[in-house]
Amino acid sequence: MIPQDTIEQIRQAVDIVQIIGEYLKLKKRGSRYLALCPFHTEKTPSFSISSEKQLYYCFGCGKGGTVFTFLMEHEGMSYVEAIKYLAGKVNIPIKEDSTTDFKREQNEKIYFANQVALEYFKKQLLSSKYKHILNDYLIKKRGITKEIIEEYSLGLVGEEWEGLIKFASSKDLSPKDLFECGLALYSEKNKSYFDRFRQRLMIPIFNLSQKPIAFGGRTLKKGEPAKYINSPESSIYIKGNVLFNLNLAKDHIKQTGSAIITEGYFDVISLWQAGIKNVVASSGTAFTMQQARLLARFTDKVSLFFDADSAGRKAALRSIDSLYDSGLEVKVIIAPPGEDPDSIARDYGRDKLNELIENAMNFINFRIQDVDLRESGIIAREKLVKELGALGNKISDPTRRSLFHTEASNVLGVDVELLRNIPVETSYSPESKPQRPKQFNKVETGLLSLLFNNPGTIDIIFEQISPDDFESRELSRLYSAIANQYKTAGVVNAGVLIDTVRDQGFISLITKIASEEWEAEDIDHEAHSHLKMFQKKKQERIREKLKQDLVRAEAEGNVKEAENILAELKKQGL
Ligand SMILES: [Zn+2]
Repeated sequence: MIPQDTIEQIRQAVDIVQIIGEYLKLKKRGSRYLALCPFHTEKTPSFSISSEKQLYYCFGCGKGGTVFTFLMEHEGMSYVEAIKYLAGKVNIPIKEDSTTDFKREQNEKIYFANQVALEYFKKQLLSSKYKHILNDYLIKKRGITKEIIEEYSLGLVGEEWEGLIKFASSKDLSPKDLFECGLALYSEKNKSYFDRFRQRLMIPIFNLSQKPIAFGGRTLKKGEPAKYINSPESSIYIKGNVLFNLNLAKDHIKQTGSAIITEGYFDVISLWQAGIKNVVASSGTAFTMQQARLLARFTDKVSLFFDADSAGRKAALRSIDSLYDSGLEVKVIIAPPGEDPDSIARDYGRDKLNELIENAMNFINFRIQDVDLRESGIIAREKLVKELGALGNKISDPTRRSLFHTEASNVLGVDVELLRNIPVETSYSPESKPQRPKQFNKVETGLLSLLFNNPGTIDIIFEQISPDDFESRELSRLYSAIANQYKTAGVVNAGVLIDTVRDQGFISLITKIASEEWEAEDIDHEAHSHLKMFQKKKQERIREKLKQDLVRAEAEGNVKEAENILAELKKQGL
């Protein structure tokens, strides 16, 4: 736990413009800075940074937040990683609280156990006992160089049942610790723990901070049914949130402006060795929405490079939805029959790979070639029309969506309107699109914005308005949060408030409201007039409710209640 006052110190020392400027090209516009939004595709900049408020907000997709949320969203850092990174930038030493958070301790233990396991696996691979596997299998058969083995920290586990358990005990990790970290299993029969991984080549999976968080184990036994087994999920490893090799590939992805997606660890490793470095793998599963969004932080173009067989094609198709939903443009690299990315890299090398990459097909053409319209009948064609129409409708950028539909309409020979009207299937999750900010009542958002922007009228507003007076539940929640902050800290600060919540929708809402611009000379007047309008709206709502109650009471013949309501309405001046 990092003490709150250290975090505050860092917040005050850091300049959001400078930090974001390291990732995006900024243009000064008045008191603000503008950039092309890194969270959605656009041609004219709607991503705005306020140096005064130390906030960013995108008017296109509604993403917003502080320098901390930016590093978390854009660079994939955790909150603590972002704080430490910024502390380093402004030379503020971090003294961690002695009161340790249990969860953090747990996480640290899993990180440590994975680090210890990594060390053990690497040692095993280099031991004389397994020299044949290193030389004959990895280097000769798979063609992997010693440098790559080192760079990827490849390792090995042999036949021992308690190899890792013994090694880890010298690092003060008990068998039970390893069990809790997913590195050991428990035998009910023998009442004892044993290593999870045996007789496997070990491929570590790193997070973006270069820490090993899990392992993929490839079997070394002939006839073993489970070719790969992976670490189970843990609080530091959620399979669908991680991309293999993104830690190494992210800079290359930014440089080349695109990412290549393969299926397996060795596809990645072989491509990397051949000099193609903007490559990641989803580790054998279809791309999840989280993985696609993670990738979309670094690029807007991806190429799928899967096996030539039908399983490979199916895997490519399963990933398409999440990729399009995340605003990525998708191409498909077609491997020659019988080959996969790994074998092409090994047998043909870099030139052939570059040729295939350059000839990547856009997704529409890939599907049309796949289905072969000349051969197949009208039903297959109809299915494809529906598939491509729906896929196009997932593209949030209107220009790109229109281009996609036009192209599909040309190739399929159907009317473009038909494609546009095909509904997006049920698998589609509305959450995944850049969210248009919800429309709220202007008086309510205005009043909240004035709390952030005009300290002079905060007390008057809090005196007169209670959270229940807001029509919108979300705005009421925000009002309570602001009131709480004011009560405890004596000031209202959007940045601090944002960093206490973890819900992206709410963060965007706060930033949008806090970022609203007010003319300095009018602001007191605006505050009073908003307060008046707010009260008036509230009165109207009460009256409306009373009138409805009156109608109901009269309809029910409840004379007494109707009289009471009438009296109340009179009191309200009606
Ligand atoms: Zn945006």
